Amino acid sequence: MSYNTVGIVTGANKGIGLAIVRQLALQYPKSPLSNGSFLIYLTARDQGRGEAAVKDLQQDAQLKQAKALQADGGPSEIKFRALDITDEESVKSFVAHLKQTHSDGINFIINNAGIAMEGFNANVVKTTLHCNYYSTLQTCHSILPLLKPHGRIVNLGSMSGHLSKYSPEIRDRFLASKSEDDVSSIMQDFASAVEAGKEKDAGFPSAAYAVSKAGLIGGSRALARVLKESGSSVLVNSCCPGYVNTDMTKGNGTKTPDEGALTPVLLAIQDIQGRTGEFWQNEKAIEW
Ligand code: NDP
Repeated sequence: MSYNTVGIVTGANKGIGLAIVRQLALQYPKSPLSNGSFLIYLTARDQGRGEAAVKDLQQDAQLKQAKALQADGGPSEIKFRALDITDEESVKSFVAHLKQTHSDGINFIINNAGIAMEGFNANVVKTTLHCNYYSTLQTCHSILPLLKPHGRIVNLGSMSGHLSKYSPEIRDRFLASKSEDDVSSIMQDFASAVEAGKEKDAGFPSAAYAVSKAGLIGGSRALARVLKESGSSVLVNSCCPGYVNTDMTKGNGTKTPDEGALTPVLLAIQDIQGRTGEFWQNEKAIEW
């Protein structure tokens, strides 16, 4: 079966990612992107957890009541596909499947997968940057050739990546970054400073997660800029979902996952008037 609209969500077996899939199915019929059948790839690194999440959504009372899914007469279908964003082979195999199955292309990807590790040391920094920064941007590049004109990339950043937490010099470097390489060199300087025990002197916070998310916001801006300059109409934005009650926040978050899903879903399927390279929170573009 071919689908008019195809979207991908990473790390979608639980938390905000799962709620994003749910909100996509609920909002799609009334979105400007709505155009017949809609396939949402709920991707996860673990097959069991991913398949269980799809089953849960197929039984979801609100989706059933809204007749959102094809089984109930609606436009949307949710399919599981394995994707570990830190595993090159996993990304390659997912991309090969997409190429083979969707010759018309993909409408959007929401890069939600992310980690927040306990503790702070060089190893935590390396693992966190690898997942939240390098692998997320690599996933963008792997999917980019498959995106339709006007396709969209949405990256889950965080207010913890806000530039108010940096020295003026690092802040200026982030803001002046014209390419992903410029941002990557800030990430490398952070990792080296942590190894030397001098990240504070170098103008960074002692926080792997926060710096990885600042990198992702900066990398998304740089990618948007390069695409725009090359004449591409693909839109790339990053956002903070808010402080959301998930496993990551250990029950302390103040928003529900469905509330946290609203901004990423807006950036994927609602009218954002062609805006690209911006950082969003509470469904509005904000200053970084
Ligand atoms: P959770 O920890 O609840 O969920 C994270 C998801 O990412 C899980 O599905 C996890 O899979 C998946 N994941 C982790 N690593 C990988 C990987 N290598 N490949 C594929 N999937 C992976 O977090 P949240 O739902 O709270 O967060 C979702 C996103 O929102 C993250 O990027 C987070 O940084 C961001 N965010 C969250 C905030 C909050 O308040 N919760 C605030 C700001 C940003 P598995 O189950 O297999 O571990």
